[in-house]
Amino acid sequence: MSLQDTTPALLRKASRWLPWMGLIAVLATVSRSAAGTHPQPWFERHLVGMEVGPTGAQFGGGKHAPDYARNFNGRDIVRRCVEANAEYLVLWVRDGEFTFHNSKLLPKPAGLGDRDVLREAADEARRHQLPLLVYCQLQYPAHELRQHPDWKARDAAGKPIDHLVCFHSPYTNVVKQLLAEMLPYGIAGFHLDMVDQGFGPPHGCWCDRCQALFQAEHGRPMPTGVNWEDENWDRMLRFRYATSDRFEKMLTDYVRSLDPQATVDFNYHGNPPFSWEIGQTPVVHAGNGDFVTGEAGLWAFGALTASFNAAWYRAATPGKPFQVAIQRGVRMYHDQTTRPLNDMRWEMFTLLAHGAFVTMIDKTAYDGWLDPVAYTRFGELLGEARAKRAQFGQTPVREVGIYFSARTRDWIGRDKPATYYQSVQGAHKACVYEHLGFGFVFDEALSLEALQQFPVVCLPNATIVSEREVDLFRRYVEGGGKLLITGQSGQFDRMGRPLGTSTLEGLIGAGVKRRLEGADNWMRFSTSSIPGSGTMLFADSPEGEAARRRALHAQNVAFAPAALRPGPADWPFLVRGPATIYEPTTAASVGDLLDSHRAALANPEGYNADWPLSARQVVGPAVLINALGKGTVLTFAGSPDFATASEHHIVEARKLFAHAVRLLHPNPRVRISAPANVEAVVTDDPAARTLRVHLIAYNATPQTTPAKDRPYVLPGLIEETPMFRASLEFPGGLKSAKALNPSTQLKKRGQRVDLVVEDIHEIIQCRY
Ligand SMILES: [Zn+2]
Repeated sequence: MSLQDTTPALLRKASRWLPWMGLIAVLATVSRSAAGTHPQPWFERHLVGMEVGPTGAQFGGGKHAPDYARNFNGRDIVRRCVEANAEYLVLWVRDGEFTFHNSKLLPKPAGLGDRDVLREAADEARRHQLPLLVYCQLQYPAHELRQHPDWKARDAAGKPIDHLVCFHSPYTNVVKQLLAEMLPYGIAGFHLDMVDQGFGPPHGCWCDRCQALFQAEHGRPMPTGVNWEDENWDRMLRFRYATSDRFEKMLTDYVRSLDPQATVDFNYHGNPPFSWEIGQTPVVHAGNGDFVTGEAGLWAFGALTASFNAAWYRAATPGKPFQVAIQRGVRMYHDQTTRPLNDMRWEMFTLLAHGAFVTMIDKTAYDGWLDPVAYTRFGELLGEARAKRAQFGQTPVREVGIYFSARTRDWIGRDKPATYYQSVQGAHKACVYEHLGFGFVFDEALSLEALQQFPVVCLPNATIVSEREVDLFRRYVEGGGKLLITGQSGQFDRMGRPLGTSTLEGLIGAGVKRRLEGADNWMRFSTSSIPGSGTMLFADSPEGEAARRRALHAQNVAFAPAALRPGPADWPFLVRGPATIYEPTTAASVGDLLDSHRAALANPEGYNADWPLSARQVVGPAVLINALGKGTVLTFAGSPDFATASEHHIVEARKLFAHAVRLLHPNPRVRISAPANVEAVVTDDPAARTLRVHLIAYNATPQTTPAKDRPYVLPGLIEETPMFRASLEFPGGLKSAKALNPSTQLKKRGQRVDLVVEDIHEIIQCRY
């Protein structure tokens, strides 16, 4: 139990018998120890907190009605958040127009009068030993840009971009002065939002300051605009990433120079759907500050983003805590609606199960009023999380490492990164629906150790793969690793130009004959003869070992058609996405790849380009299996990952992906059967010999047509707890299993556990 949990009880007891002065002494001691000398920083010991800001802060261009933020009161916010079981508070203090403290630099909203919201909050937070963080907006400083128009970022034509600031301008000094004003309030640190260089065109920054710096660093002028054919654009991207990196490091160093205890975290944008234009890469920018913070949120990113982002942040900052922010509103931060409790529970427990710590964001009413129903729900939500604290933070058990290539993002994704992301997101979706533990591996920080964390590493259409990466993949496979390659991996050079071959040919065991033009591709697996079972014995010698491996490989190949196919034999099914016609050299071919009737049309793009057309003829093998050292490379000539994330997702394409994982890794620590809308997260506590299986149900309600943008229907809210069956099998043996919820029906039979669960979140603790 943390100090946070013990002190209020201690104080309640103390107040009964201590004279007034004595109580003050106790308070002072507790306060000092909570603020300064706790052995662990706040972000390592707390699981759930709140962020509170006034709605309307980013709108209206600073022209607010007199009652704007009138009741936005730091003392009330702290009290209500403490009552709602928050363990820390991120208070909105500075935005583009205003600040909510007494500042020499920025105005306050008129409605505040003489009040200093940060002072109110800091005084009250001290009484509760609540770590208080200051939300400080960095980007879109409308007030400063009106006074200093030459601080604006400039597009390639030299035109000012009105809403964006240049991170090489003197604006950086204003930010430092602001942070220096806020620190003496006794705060725990800063949440800095955001360091983006634009979420789309117009792109910056081509101002004179940036041009001069580029010339000095790269010995040549900046490229004159976005140009993916130009070598110099590569330098420009590096300059762009370095700009954000330097700015973040400068602010972190500055805050630490003033107060080494104060924490700094940045709202991170190195993950999909964001790309180069923001100016961040997955690993470098996640590493700035004390920990990474990102957002989930159905409203912008879909329901799968909760688990995707949590696993991504973990991989981008190995060994560090990571924070994910979620929101109260049904559609958005500022929409003044409140999600049902179960809708919030699904998102909160998905994130906690994946090891994040979670911040719930409340945007108050326009005048700062705090909605009592919202705070009652926060109290239940955060209280449940704290009660389950011991169930989180164990080591994840993972089968599939999903490879992400930032180089492919930039040089193949270019201005449309979503096409590349679809392969990555499809691999993730398949893992979630099929209950395969997953994580991410980044090209930016690639090492043999990073690969070896996973029994299977998937390259989802990683089209740019360097020789260095190939070498690491080879060593990983030769040492016993399993590689799952899809799409057109390795078939483009570092600037995204097509190669006549694949850099992965030696691993795949096949040459590239050609890439298929269309995305509507099909696969078919014929009936196969199943070889007789029986243990094969080989001499304990290098020759015997080689023979054993050859026999196992032959057995794998013979079993593959039956093991992989997701439907009837000889049935062609759609696997929409990029595909390659391979010619095997050392690999064994399994199944057929078919093109579509589109290939025979005079104008293939003129015929319902968005809709896949029917299967036509066999053009090559569907799958290649290549034995290499102690490991195996399984290559899909198509893209079951892309297909799974596409609008033409058929269940069989997803099953095909899962079957390939199971063929490569036949004995996972636990095999989970559960509905596709239930995500499973398995963690291990080796000291207690306990595997925890978190089951989190996404139980959205049906919807009608939207008022605009039909047919893009938004997901409904989760109102009720579902009832579902699940089963767990432990090939390595199982001593006991118990459910956390009393309502769960659990039957253990040997190594198998059958469950009927009636909740959004359940945890089965399994002793081995
Ligand atoms: Zn600039």
